[in-house]
Amino acid sequence: MKKIAIAGCGLAGLATALHLLKQSNVSVTLFDPRGIGGGASGVSTGLLHPFPGRLALHSWQAKEGMMSTRTLLDEVEAFTGRPAAHRDGILRLALTEQQKRDFPKCLEFGCEWWPAEQVLERIPGATAAPALWIPEGMTVYSKPYLEGLWQLCQHRGAEFRKEAFHSPEAFDRIVLAMGFETPCSFDIALKMTRGQALLCRWEKSLPLTLLSQGHLTPSEHRFHCQLGSTYEDPKTPLDTSKAFALQEKIAAFYPPARGFEVLETRVGYRIARQNGYRPIVSQIDPKTWVFFGLGSRGLLYHSLLGESLARSLLNELI
Ligand SMILES: Cc1cc2nc3c(=O)[nH]c(=O)nc-3n(C[C@H](O)[C@H](O)[C@H](O)COP(=O)(O)OP(=O)(O)OC[C@H]3O[C@@H](n4cnc5c(N)ncnc54)[C@H](O)[C@@H]3O)c2cc1C
Repeated sequence: MKKIAIAGCGLAGLATALHLLKQSNVSVTLFDPRGIGGGASGVSTGLLHPFPGRLALHSWQAKEGMMSTRTLLDEVEAFTGRPAAHRDGILRLALTEQQKRDFPKCLEFGCEWWPAEQVLERIPGATAAPALWIPEGMTVYSKPYLEGLWQLCQHRGAEFRKEAFHSPEAFDRIVLAMGFETPCSFDIALKMTRGQALLCRWEKSLPLTLLSQGHLTPSEHRFHCQLGSTYEDPKTPLDTSKAFALQEKIAAFYPPARGFEVLETRVGYRIARQNGYRPIVSQIDPKTWVFFGLGSRGLLYHSLLGESLARSLLNELI
């Protein structure tokens, strides 16, 4: 039996573990001092679609990433018997002239262009603006999904230790999936960003996931929704009033947001390449791999790249 250690129980570490555990002759031990989803993954507002980013360009390997995440979501839902995502599509409102020019480029990938009247009919109370309808888009319920990933890992024999990773000598292979705390000695310029999101209560349930300048997503609780997210320099002092400003930003395309009751401010740290957005999966010594740098595309890439990393490890070991 080959022993593999994974440091970090966020999307990257859990997805890698689950793909490794499809093979029966490996044992997987997960380490995380903050518990399951104690990093950025636990505060993610859950957007999953192929066109993240300001310009709404079709991301690298987006089709494969969507398919791989969808498969893990299906496995988690079948195992836990609870929904792990809102699968009703995402509506991306075009408020600026630039967005009206950029968004229709996605139409060749199966999206629809909704005129303002259609938006108002589907989302009463929204600001009158045309929108890009992304039917395959979904909102992942971060906490139940991460919890479900861990339950599946446990069911397949994984062990969890609520502590920082140590004793590399006890393992045949090690995966460092420690988010912004992943040690990185090679020459890639990285950028860390702090993000804030608000968990809110509203007496109605949100009709759809809305995205424009800021976003509004449903949660696993019918009358809760999430407003996100900010992009801040982590060197500046944490200022939670920036999170409250989100309410006004979202109200620009969904005015009822002004009436939401704020329940909680959530803060997390993302790390990504300074130039480009492809996550980093790399072997740093004969026994150790790193998997991090998922930026704002954690949901799009964690399963696809976790699977390819698991394949590389298994090819080496077995
Ligand atoms: C506010 C906010 C909103 C976001 N919204 C979205 C979204 O809508 N869609 C999307 O796709 N992405 C979103 N993201 C980005 C997404 O959350 C990240 O890309 C993803 O969570 C990164 O996963 P990870 O596993 O690499 O890192 P993390 O989730 O940060 O996990 C790293 C883990 O490593 C652990 N760790 C650290 N040191 C050690 C050690 N020595 N030993 C063991 N464990 C250790 C940490 O405790 C942590 O739990 C958002 C991020 C933020 C902050």
